[in-house]
Amino acid sequence: MPIAQPGKELHALCHEHHVDMGPSQIALMIEGELSVAPAYACPRPDCFVHYATSHGYFLATKYGQIERDSTPRVTCPRDGQPMYLARTNPEVSSFRLWRCPQCDATRTNSDDLEGGIRQ
Ligand SMILES: [Zn+2]
Ligand SMILES: [Zn+2]
Repeated sequence: MPIAQPGKELHALCHEHHVDMGPSQIALMIEGELSVAPAYACPRPDCFVHYATSHGYFLATKYGQIERDSTPRVTCPRDGQPMYLARTNPEVSSFRLWRCPQCDATRTNSDDLEGGIRQ
């Protein structure tokens, strides 16, 4: 199984706008401790979507408030890592390809329909 390398570039897409997100950093409050974690951020100035390999998608405002309720939670069927949106298909608007940052496994939303993989 390939090992995830720290600093490996992911091509994560914003799940709202389907554009490449850029490397960023986010201050996270985890169990009362503030820590800075590498993350990916949507380039749109009015979009708060972020992705971090350890947390999956979340919305982060500039005030550090984090909102996860409205973000997709797709996890890897092998290791449970939060997967990122890697590809969409302009011709099939409902198509989503998700990729695991840990083991590179992929799944699509049609797998969910056909295979019944639970999230
Ligand atoms: Zn966005
Ligand atoms: Zn995986």
